[in-house]
Amino acid sequence: MSEGVNPFESLQEQVDDAAAYLDIDDGVLTRLKNPERVLETNLSVEMDDGSTEVFRAYRSQFNGDRGPYKGGIRYHPGVNRDEVKALSGWMVYKCATVGIPYGGGKGGIEIDPDEYSEGELERLTRSFAKELRPLIGEDRDIPAPDVNTGQREMNWIKDTYETLENTTAPGVITGKDISSGGSAGRVEATGRSTVIAAREAFDYLGRDIADATVAVQGYGNAGWVTAKLADELGATVVAVSDSSGGIHSEDGLDPVAAKDHKNETGSVVGFSAADEEITNDELLTLDVDLLVPAALENAIDADLAEDVSADVVSEAANGPVTPDGDDVLTEKDVLVVPDILANAGGVTVSYFEWVQNRQRFYWTEEKVNEELESIMVEAFDDLTSAYDDHDLPNMRTAAYAVAIRRVLDAYEQSGNWP
Ligand code: NAD
Repeated sequence: MSEGVNPFESLQEQVDDAAAYLDIDDGVLTRLKNPERVLETNLSVEMDDGSTEVFRAYRSQFNGDRGPYKGGIRYHPGVNRDEVKALSGWMVYKCATVGIPYGGGKGGIEIDPDEYSEGELERLTRSFAKELRPLIGEDRDIPAPDVNTGQREMNWIKDTYETLENTTAPGVITGKDISSGGSAGRVEATGRSTVIAAREAFDYLGRDIADATVAVQGYGNAGWVTAKLADELGATVVAVSDSSGGIHSEDGLDPVAAKDHKNETGSVVGFSAADEEITNDELLTLDVDLLVPAALENAIDADLAEDVSADVVSEAANGPVTPDGDDVLTEKDVLVVPDILANAGGVTVSYFEWVQNRQRFYWTEEKVNEELESIMVEAFDDLTSAYDDHDLPNMRTAAYAVAIRRVLDAYEQSGNWP
């Protein structure tokens, strides 16, 4: 893992790489590479012992040309302004890649949530929601979960917003509990799209994912569901990991049993059915057919990429491969399905949740999964057409070329305000 790579610079390089194949005015390109605005705020929160602690929090609204800003809220000690800016930019190009009518945003709080009680986290989340209130709204900016946040935090934010606005507005946030207006299929959506993207990638190569061996780095929401659904398609999950380390079994692991072990003990490490324990770097370089990075940014830099043995990488995480790492994987002919397509299931089903909230009419899980399947397959086909027809270096550049064109079309057609 490369700590030194600034994810915002990675995003800007990715946009530049694709823009080289498009005819874009320099000023417009600058617009495509920078957020429209960033809120940076200090949240003062009362602790259980009566003391006060201050937490730095951010919300970046990167681009709203195609619709309301959309993107998750992350709680992690590594959260900083540039990370949030990068994540918000990736959201813009992700929504455009899958053709859903949103711009991009992202938020985060610099915190290790494991060190705080539920009451402290609720006060912190409600304090952030109060700061966000002038910026967010069903037609303005719609947050969602990300690392270390989930239905609980989304419910708190919705409740704070609705109380302060004296209204009901379930579409102000997605990733909610079903009883608070959440969508069937949302929890599994990111892992589901990561697997659909991988399945299509193997198909594109004339292979079947059912014959693939799989390694998954990161066993949270995105990673564990990816492992479970890959297993259900007949693939063999041979290794999984989390921040404490990894486990490996040549003949395959039971993803559900590994998850049960993590739920009981806090980590996949120590799972008794595994052959051996391995490090995260060993997992990333295992000789498998499919590698799924599902943890954080910069997991695969140029040095590590030299040792990647997988044929296909499906990026469940945002920004897991650095630009230099990407160059090495392209050189080695590894098919990387970029994050802005592979993990787009999360925001796509968030979009379905928002549509259902606005209509007050709720879908079955079957309908959610069918709609997600068709959006993912169409988006994958758009990418491979761009990749094949325009001689682009890799799928990431193809995805950015398609997405940037869509953002530009919306920008150009909306005219220019002084
Ligand atoms: P999560 O908090 O549920 O899980 C994160 C997992 O990664 C945990 O198992 C953690 O132990 C592990 N991890 C953290 N640091 C690690 C390290 N250095 N090495 C190995 N494992 C490590 O988070 P999540 O929601 O699954 O998000 C994971 C990634 O997927 C993030 O990049 C996130 O932005 C992206 N993503 C998530 C969603 C979603 O809907 N949840 C949608 C799109 C993208």
